Amino acid sequence: MVSRCFWHEEVRPVGQKWPCVPVMQRDELFSSWLIRCALCNACDAVEMARYIWPKRRIWTGDCDLGICSLCLSDLQDRSGISAAAFIRSSLVPICVSMGLKLPPVGITPWVLSLGGRNLRRAGGLQYCPCCFAESPFYRLQWRLAWYTCCPDHGVKLRDSCPHCSAVISPHRLDYRVPNLARCHQCAGLLSAVDVQDAGADEIELIRQANLILQGRSVGLNWPAMPVAEGFSFLKGLFRLVRVLAASPSVAGKRFLAALDVDNASLTPAVNVGLKLECLSNSERSHLLSTVSRILLAGADRFQVAAESAQLCPSIRDAVAGTGQSYLAQLLPQRPHRGYAKTLPASCLSPRSPCSVLKAWLRFERKMLRAEGHW
Ligand SMILES: [Zn+2]
Ligand SMILES: [Zn+2]
Repeated sequence: MVSRCFWHEEVRPVGQKWPCVPVMQRDELFSSWLIRCALCNACDAVEMARYIWPKRRIWTGDCDLGICSLCLSDLQDRSGISAAAFIRSSLVPICVSMGLKLPPVGITPWVLSLGGRNLRRAGGLQYCPCCFAESPFYRLQWRLAWYTCCPDHGVKLRDSCPHCSAVISPHRLDYRVPNLARCHQCAGLLSAVDVQDAGADEIELIRQANLILQGRSVGLNWPAMPVAEGFSFLKGLFRLVRVLAASPSVAGKRFLAALDVDNASLTPAVNVGLKLECLSNSERSHLLSTVSRILLAGADRFQVAAESAQLCPSIRDAVAGTGQSYLAQLLPQRPHRGYAKTLPASCLSPRSPCSVLKAWLRFERKMLRAEGHW
């Protein structure tokens, strides 16, 4: 059983001016509480935000990341909940502990991207059907990319409505609904779905990432690292898995087999051009489960496998990112061969239907995210 990571305690309002202020639940996300507060006052979330911040349109962005740019004094006075408690329920503390720059610009590493345009979203919010059946509110950890399942219930998280497939967008709920339990589009109960069991590897990855978040070692001779470095190491492993999945090679298969990773299960992601933070739950869980298996093999086996498989030096360059990361040190260092300058193969022969299809799907997904058609 994975020990739960508690982000913040329950907060009860004191001296509130509004007729109804919900208790901020333990681990509840700021935006989730704000929407529940609007609904229990028979108001929708957009109207409530317009009332508190008349010059801002907070639902077109990510208020859980950008909370520090909001003036919270009015909300604090009316709700009876302190501004400090609101910030604790946002994604700011976790970004700070991961050493990320704030205010966020573009996609924030490890935080799922909401994307979209205006009030529409492309993704980024997940929920556990079992947690929702008990108490419908959004937990802070469901916005983090390494959470693909709920360790408490052992089931996969969902990022769309089980009835109409709409992207989860509780800020668009109608003011007449009493709580967050229903889909904003079809009003179906989000908890009414046949749950899917979580894989052991994805539950394990949550445990490993939470150890890294505490600056601790994941064991098996992997070193303890400062939190920011630990997450860049984890991202490097993700890049390695992605490269090996996208470009299968004999060396790559030999390397993975030496780490007990089933090659057949590692299929290339369809959305090869999207960052981890923009991938759907199923794509992330597929790739991150492999990352978890590699971590479980341990640092010593990793180094031996990388050396004996003779992974191509370009893979090392692809996974290491900028600077000399710990992961780059574990991969064999060989000088690049001095290739004769020739035309790329793609200029000499037509591309395969499969590669054209992949490029098209990537383009289509990017366009949809950009236009917010989801
Ligand atoms: Zn759950
Ligand atoms: Zn729906």
